Amino acid sequence: MQQPATAARILEIAVPTPLRRTFDYLPGPHVPANGWHAGMRVKISFGHRDAVGIVVATKSESALPAGKLKAIKDVIDQAPLPADWLALCRFTARYYQHSLGDTLFQALPVLLRQGRALEARTRERWSLTAKGHATTADALGRAYKQAELLEMLRLHRRGMVSSAITAQGFTRAQLDALGAKGLIEGTVEQAIAPAREHSDILAEPSLTLNREQTDALATLHTGLGTFFPTLLHGVTGSGKTEVYLQLIDAVLRRQQQALVLIPEIGLTPQTLARFERRFSVPIVTLHSGMNDAERLDAWEAARAGRARIIIGTRSAIFTPMAAPGVIIVDEEHDDSFKQQDGLRYHARDLALFRAQTHDVPVVLGSATPSLTTLNHARQGRYHHIHLRQRAGESAQAALELLDVRARPLEGGLCPQALEAISAQLEQKRQVLIFINRRGYAPTLSCHQCGWLAECPRCDARLTLHRHPPQLICHHCDYHTRLPDACPSCASADLRPLGSGTERAEDALVSAFPETPVIRVDRDSTRRKDALAQTFEKIHKGEPCLLVGTQMLAKGHHFPHITLVVVVNADGGLYSADFRALETSAQLLTQVAGRAGRAEHPGRVLIQTHHPDDQNLLCLVQEGYDTLADNLLEERRQAQLPPFRHMVLLRGESAHLDLLTTVLETVSQELRAWLGEHARPVDCLGPVPAPMERRQGRYHMHLMLMSAHRAPLHDAAAWLANALEHRPEARRFKWSLDVDPVGL
Ligand code: ADP
Ligand code: ZN
Ligand code: ZN
Repeated sequence: MQQPATAARILEIAVPTPLRRTFDYLPGPHVPANGWHAGMRVKISFGHRDAVGIVVATKSESALPAGKLKAIKDVIDQAPLPADWLALCRFTARYYQHSLGDTLFQALPVLLRQGRALEARTRERWSLTAKGHATTADALGRAYKQAELLEMLRLHRRGMVSSAITAQGFTRAQLDALGAKGLIEGTVEQAIAPAREHSDILAEPSLTLNREQTDALATLHTGLGTFFPTLLHGVTGSGKTEVYLQLIDAVLRRQQQALVLIPEIGLTPQTLARFERRFSVPIVTLHSGMNDAERLDAWEAARAGRARIIIGTRSAIFTPMAAPGVIIVDEEHDDSFKQQDGLRYHARDLALFRAQTHDVPVVLGSATPSLTTLNHARQGRYHHIHLRQRAGESAQAALELLDVRARPLEGGLCPQALEAISAQLEQKRQVLIFINRRGYAPTLSCHQCGWLAECPRCDARLTLHRHPPQLICHHCDYHTRLPDACPSCASADLRPLGSGTERAEDALVSAFPETPVIRVDRDSTRRKDALAQTFEKIHKGEPCLLVGTQMLAKGHHFPHITLVVVVNADGGLYSADFRALETSAQLLTQVAGRAGRAEHPGRVLIQTHHPDDQNLLCLVQEGYDTLADNLLEERRQAQLPPFRHMVLLRGESAHLDLLTTVLETVSQELRAWLGEHARPVDCLGPVPAPMERRQGRYHMHLMLMSAHRAPLHDAAAWLANALEHRPEARRFKWSLDVDPVGL
């Protein structure tokens, strides 16, 4: 594909555009020292602007005559971006039917997209000299700030970096003044430095593993150095993380790096602290709270091999590594691994591709594995390791259904639930109330005529919020103030319908005025550190009531909670989305897993209007694994994923007629093409999306399904090509979603 051509005649360049094609340029007078290679960034003029492009191949001929080709403006990289990184991006673009240029640029840190040189940034570290140690602050006379700075540095034995010093209000001039007096000195180091040579890998001893963990680790050890896909299937608290830590230890001893992917919500300071406590090697994290310079530092350190452990959310799957040794995907069933716009990749699936190309093990950990992963394991394509016992102090709570039909509800809670809560509080314990709806009530209604507050831009109800009072659309963020009277019949009798977290909070505060009520949802935790502070309070163990959404369901264990009440389990039971049951069974199991410890295993009460529902009964009586097997069997019979693969074409337009006409035409053409070429692919639709109107635009789907990947991807590629070349296509937005998660 790429010749080592020093004298490349033509450069094939990927540019960040949605167009599924590359562009040819001439090298002009530029000759990189080691010749042209795929993966080098260049400056070009593209259309009427300057852009950064990435050379993806060199070749001797172009479809365009040489006279029509422009020359590049400059070379950015003398050394290309890593070849395996480029291969990962190529695979991603092809698999997800996305533009290669856009894929490459999304996979790069922002500063590299903008053309920043790929060099490790350096920084200055300041510390006292021998003379500085021997000098007291009074020797500096009236240079009070310098004296203060000297004292601050005296407290930091390893010195401080300039940015940390200036953040304390000191200036460069003060540093230079002390430097000139020979009291302090600055040394230049890389932003993320390698571990010092003699330092050990472990900063604290590992735990002694129990029997199941020992077996799990032994199996995983046999897979080191090979592609070894494993489902680590263990209940919450069974010690999966401890197994990851000890596997990483083995990887580090092989001089290799570990990549750990964690769901958005799981990347908490507690998780990081656990890795940092254990290892003394450099660890970098990649998450949304970082600025561009920090991201580039982490990326560079991983690429160069200085960072030994890389922990991050979804997009960290694109971090290059000098010596990959293992990829771990924690909570592999979590939907946050799937990007839901633009490049719609699934980080877990890319982790499998990457592990395969690097020949390293990939561990998918979960208490509630996705049906996709479970199916691979059941079919023998993945190793399947079980951890059935809880490892630490905790014990699994039992699940019970509470029939709430015709029962009075206070803030969503039935009298039996309130009694159970009261009993726990008398014992000075903590209770978690899980309600998967933020705001005060799911909507506002008119008691006279039945009017419901609806979003003017979406096919959805507006949620009533109390603090401050307003109606908000949770789909498009439309805000409006509360009406004084019903817009339809002018009655003033407007009432909240149903309960959200705010209403449950109000009900609990009035039922249990003595007990602190802590609400955890997106509204209560907008401040960055608010969630961490809240959790710290809860970990102290004082009696309290914790009300919240799924932010509470993941990552955290609350040992003092002895009762969990799930306000409504019915959301996923009768949904249009075939995955809804799987997702809600995972969520319920995860919430239940938050509670209890050995002496008080605790109870989980699940309120429902459908106490006879077979699936709900199965979950409560037999647990997630049995339900998952039943659901897999249903999927097999219905020939739904994972037994057939799916690609969704999502179309969106302000004009419903245009959208319907175009999608109907292309679907007919596609069916004809599929028939002609004997491709075993079903094409369903176009059908309106479950929420047809959203933000004032119409959404329709075309669904492709096949038992075989190759013809399915051919069909998707055919569709993309057909749509790209259609003049009307400019007037509506479309995207292909390969292996969609959620409709
Ligand atoms: P998971 O990741 O499966 O939820 P963790 O690894 O977080 O489980 O373990 C749950 C708790 O049990 C943690 O507090 C952990 O320190 C403790 N733990 C794990 N393994 C052991 C072990 N072998 N011995 C003692 N405690 C353990
Ligand atoms: Zn009315
Ligand atoms: Zn809306």
